[in-house]
Formats: sequence, structure tokens, C-alpha cells
Amino acid sequence: MNPRRWWIMMLGLIGAAALLTWGFMITAPTRMYVSTRLQMGTLVSISTWGVEENKADRAMDLAFEEIGRIEAMMSRFMPESAVAHLNQAPRGEPHAVPEELIGVIERGVEMGRLTRGAFDIGIAPLSDVWGFSREPPPEAPPPTAAIHNWLDARNGLPDQGITITPEQQILLANTAVALDLGGIAKGYAVERALEVLQRAGVANALINAGGDMRIAGAKGGQPWHIGLRDPRNPEGVVAVMDVAGSRAISTSGDYERYFMSDGVRYHHILDPKLGAPARSGLISVTVQAADSMTADALSTALFVLGGEEGLKLLRHFPGSEAFLIRADGTFIKTPGFIGTKAAPR
Ligand code: ADP
Ligand code: MG
Repeated sequence: MNPRRWWIMMLGLIGAAALLTWGFMITAPTRMYVSTRLQMGTLVSISTWGVEENKADRAMDLAFEEIGRIEAMMSRFMPESAVAHLNQAPRGEPHAVPEELIGVIERGVEMGRLTRGAFDIGIAPLSDVWGFSREPPPEAPPPTAAIHNWLDARNGLPDQGITITPEQQILLANTAVALDLGGIAKGYAVERALEVLQRAGVANALINAGGDMRIAGAKGGQPWHIGLRDPRNPEGVVAVMDVAGSRAISTSGDYERYFMSDGVRYHHILDPKLGAPARSGLISVTVQAADSMTADALSTALFVLGGEEGLKLLRHFPGSEAFLIRADGTFIKTPGFIGTKAAPR
């Protein structure tokens, strides 16, 4: 995230926190406690309801710690992470990784199979060719030769070149394959963070990690009220979701990280078949599912696949629902999706 955006978000949050504090001083016997940190390259905020302040604070600290632990294992940008070590290891030889990471890789590879490669956790080298994680972001697309080199090196590799050996080690086929868990690990981390909150006695919570949300329980007997951002207007809301009980919600959009060049928007969700940002006709995908890792992976996968193929993929995940926004502003909503279109203001 660029520093200016970060500051605007921080100021907004400080304002929101001030308002909340003021609101609580004059009302509510039961309070909501909110805590926010910068983790996994985004703002992670946790809200709790129904427990007293000390308990809430302790639980939130533990939950942030858990997210930090997972980030330190799964971020490819932390040089000492298990993922960074794997990415640097010699190719063609099995490499031992923590069991927990195997679980996430397994889910990623499975999603890769179900999407015939549209979802691909091995695209780190392509992400680097495009440079979306660079600060400042690039101003133009990379040379086509760099993209074609990547596509050629990957052509025909089964499971995108990622093998889980019977000994539960990981084998990467060649240097065009390296892990980028950006489309799935935040979901995993949020799911684990909720478990930590629950173990610490918090039954009602909302965790939001930059578009990956996990909800449990309710907010003072009311559902959690969540706005879905208008992909073309940062202040606008296109839909509202009133959700109670256990639910995960994840949004993938072409407005999170992108740059414009010659009037074309280049964003961070890549179509591995093109070696370039996905152009499926969708600009925002929100998925509701039973757990956050599924919601996170599905929102990215549907974004790449597009409406028609995406809805077919959903059938493999009973209980998962989607809200898809097309470039022309029209949308598709599956019947069980909890949410209604926001009234225009
Ligand atoms: P965000 O990170 O903005 O919440 P997503 O969950 O959709 O959005 O994840 C996008 C991230 O996933 C990218 O930044 C990149 O790390 C990774 N990614 C990009 N394209 C793919 C893909 N086709 N399959 C799997 N992961 C991807
Ligand atoms: Mg995702």
C-alpha cells in the first residue's frame, strides 16, 4: 500500500475509533472493542462484542500474534519465512516445510486443479515480472518477452509445477515456479485468528484483513453490518451484508493494487494462461463461505475465471455463494448470498 493511502486509511480509522468511543460513553452497556494493526501488507482490524475490555484486549493481542506467526511462515517477502526458504531452495529436489504450510499448499494445489490452473499458488516469478508488490508500483507493463519466457517455462507442468511428495515435502519443478500465497494465506490466517479469539472466550467477533472477513456470533443481538465497496468509488457502497453466525466473506477486486498505463488498468490478479492481469469481465468478486481460506481462494479464482466458469466452480463448494460485479456495473448474485444492493445515495 502506498504511504499516502495508508495515512488516509489511518486517519479514517482514528476518526472512526474516536466516534466509537464517544458513542459508547453515552450508550451501550455492552461494548464493542476494536483493535487495528498493519499486518500482511494490509490493515487488519478485529472487533469483539460481549466481553469486558481486558478480556477483549488479551484475546485480540493473541489473535494478532497468531496472524503474525502465520505471516512469518507464509510471506514470500520475509527472507526467513518457510516460503522464502522454499522459493530459494534448489529446484527438482524435495524440500521440507512445516506441516501447517503443507496444508495450505495442498488446498492451493487442489484449487489449481479444480480451476484448471486459473488459480495458481506458484506464480511468484510472474508476480515479480509484473512487480505489483514494488513500491512505488510500476508505471508500465513488463516486456512481452519476459512474460513469454515465463509461459514457456511453465508450459505443460502438471499441478503448475508443485509436487507434494509422499514424504510430505515440496518439490518445485523449475525457477519459473515459486510460491505466492497472496490469494489464500490471508484467509488461512484470519481463520486461525478467529480460533484463537474463540479459545480466549470471545464468541462474537468480526475480523477484517483488507477484504478477507471472518464473522462469528452477533453484535449485541444484531447481525454484523458490512458494506461492500463500490469498485470504482472508494467512498461508495454497492451492497450491504447483514451477517450473523459463523461465516467468511472475501472480496477480490481490480482496484486493490493496480496501475494505469495508456488508459489500461493493470491489476494484481493474474491469469496464468495469459501471464497477465485477468480480463474476465469482472471487476469485483465477493464470496461467502464456511471458512476464510475457502472464501479467499474462491474469490481470487472466480475473479480469474469470470462469471460463467466461476459459477460452475462454486458448485464444488456447497454452501458457498457469490456476488460478482461486471465492468459495466451489472452484477450476478447467487440465490443464497446474504446481502442486498445498497440504496443509491
Ligand atoms: P487481495 O490480496 O487484494 O485481498 P486476493 O485475495 O484476490 O486479493 O489475492 C490477490 C493476490 O493473490 C495477489 O496479490 C497475488 O499475490 C496472488 N495471485 C494473483 N493471481 C493469482 C492467481 N491466478 N492464483 C492465485 N493467486 C494469485
Ligand atoms: Mg483471495
